[in-house]
Amino acid sequence: MSRLLALSLIALAAAAVAPARPRAAPPAKVLPTAETDPVADEGDAADDPAIWVNPIDPARSRILGTNKKGGLCVYDLDGQLRQTLSVGKVNNVDLRTGFMLGGHATTLVGAGRRDDGSIHFWTIDDKTATVRDLPGELRVTVKEPYGFCMARDKAGRTYALVNDKSGLVQQWSLDGSGGTITGTLARELRLPSQVEGMAADDELGWLYIGEEKAGVHRVALDPASKAPPVLAAPAGAGGHITPDTEGVAIFDAGDGTGYLIVSSQGDSTFAVYDRVPPNAYVGSFQIGDSPSVDGCSHTDGIDVTGLSLGAAYPRGLLVAQDGENGGASQNFKLVPWENVTKAFRPPLRARAGGAEKGPAR
Ligand code: CA
Ligand code: CA
Ligand code: CA
Ligand code: CA
Repeated sequence: MSRLLALSLIALAAAAVAPARPRAAPPAKVLPTAETDPVADEGDAADDPAIWVNPIDPARSRILGTNKKGGLCVYDLDGQLRQTLSVGKVNNVDLRTGFMLGGHATTLVGAGRRDDGSIHFWTIDDKTATVRDLPGELRVTVKEPYGFCMARDKAGRTYALVNDKSGLVQQWSLDGSGGTITGTLARELRLPSQVEGMAADDELGWLYIGEEKAGVHRVALDPASKAPPVLAAPAGAGGHITPDTEGVAIFDAGDGTGYLIVSSQGDSTFAVYDRVPPNAYVGSFQIGDSPSVDGCSHTDGIDVTGLSLGAAYPRGLLVAQDGENGGASQNFKLVPWENVTKAFRPPLRARAGGAEKGPAR
């Protein structure tokens, strides 16, 4: 055997043992600029945020964050606690504007309660930026409400989506025409194992459901659709999410473009995918320590908006739960969207101008 052939065989054998694999790029590092006050309860307590964009004064927008041991917390954009609504063990929270309640367009906030099998609703007064209880909890029939999101379809119907740890997802069609909120079960979906984080892309008509060990599934938002869910963002080997799959959010960059963002709790990163199916992977980032605010680890829920929230967040805002808040109780970190965009090469998209009014959500 020639020396060249022998070397070639050795090289081939080595390649067989350790096949060449493309190395994943390290996650981009993104810095927060503010954080909320810690939640009142210790341990695993803060869970899921939702951003309310104030239509009168965007700088006076609010972050709603669940304390799953005690209720809903309302923060301003400086992170200061403005209100606590003690309604039991709310896990995930979401909202939609323009919900018709007794003939008036109102902002509807909902959260699933683990302790009594219901969805609790609030509204937000635009003028005072104050969150207020609404009568009429919606009884749901999942075993224990866990993940929750809201959606609006092209016909203007508003939905509450709720799931439980068995993998059951329910889609409830909401009606406020009588002045209180009632719901009709429009569809049930079953995924193989524990689900939680969900987000709806109203404009493109998709629902994204995080199955904690498997990744994020995409299914048509239309409850009449018979097409089964598709695994759009796999977790584990071959994917870009390290279980658990946690928070799921849609970044609307305008013109039907944007991103699907997923909290990869197991490695404290966030995976970014194209908003448009087939949801191609774009890259990952982590929220690191800035001089004034510690970064995020083992994040649960997230939310994001591309609308301008004034001078501090001119291109929008990402909010992420932080599992380890430097010895204090858990809280939520605030990241200007421009900090996320510029951490990527090429930069991620932002909304043109950032300041114009976006679609109702
Ligand atoms: Ca948690
Ligand atoms: Ca979870
Ligand atoms: Ca959670
Ligand atoms: Ca932290």
